[in-house]
Amino acid sequence: MKLFYLDESGNPELSGSSDSYVLVAVGIPIEKWTSCDKAINQLKASYNLLQAEIHTAWMLRSYREQQEIDGFESMSHEERRQAVIRVREQKIQNYKANKSAQALKSLKKIYKNTEAYIHLTYSERERFIFDLVTKIKGWSYVRIFAEVIDKTDYHPPKPDLTPESQAFERIVTRIEKYLSHISSEQKEYGLLIHDECESVTASHVCNMKRYHRWGTFKSEIKHIIETPLFVSSNHTNMVQIADCCAYAVRRYYDSADSALYLPIKARADKIGSDIVGFNHYTSNNLCECDLCRAKRKRRGKG
Ligand SMILES: [Zn+2]
Repeated sequence: MKLFYLDESGNPELSGSSDSYVLVAVGIPIEKWTSCDKAINQLKASYNLLQAEIHTAWMLRSYREQQEIDGFESMSHEERRQAVIRVREQKIQNYKANKSAQALKSLKKIYKNTEAYIHLTYSERERFIFDLVTKIKGWSYVRIFAEVIDKTDYHPPKPDLTPESQAFERIVTRIEKYLSHISSEQKEYGLLIHDECESVTASHVCNMKRYHRWGTFKSEIKHIIETPLFVSSNHTNMVQIADCCAYAVRRYYDSADSALYLPIKARADKIGSDIVGFNHYTSNNLCECDLCRAKRKRRGKG
């Protein structure tokens, strides 16, 4: 039995700010769950992050207040935390006096989402995420699946198919194929676990019920059980891992930065040397991303 942890990166609406919408599934055999969870906790503890939820995008932002504090790098973790909190409290007072309610709300949101990481410098936070993806790369039994939807050139097979549903259907199909492929001696089952998110819960459950009954566009579903289970990412390391993988893939597509993407891609599902677990969904026949180039090469057009 394998557990597949799903999370997304980028805005699913076509009008949203990101160019790509990415859905990732990280598949792990249940007998490896305890050792993976323990390894993540050990890494977190070494950065004083044991109680923190790892949200990669928030972690890798630049925190201006840290640059405003003299001698920040030479302080202890607790001193850094207290110093940043002091600067942030002053900024909040300043916003209350001089800025709009909306600006204050946005500022408070940033502070709330980053407060668990303010004791680490930017390069330490970057190193933590790099250590995390390096760990994932080393887990040879993990299989990662990713669907990248190019929202700038999105022409789905059915006009009302949203990027979210399209990505979900394609990931489910790929997981089903993978489970079928490894089920030669004994049937392997998979269960999907998704980050709790009100906007996708109803549609993913409804779609999964439909796939169980009628199959996806490309495949019958015989190896994935249940509808997806939804868990809170605050308490679940593996959903945080899926978030990190989704971020790594989107950063490659939206910012042409492959530093985190390449270690993650090393765990993509493959048949022989061909990557079959990742796909870039775009109408651009000349896309120069490594997945599209490899696909053209396989078809003899590269
Ligand atoms: Zn591409």
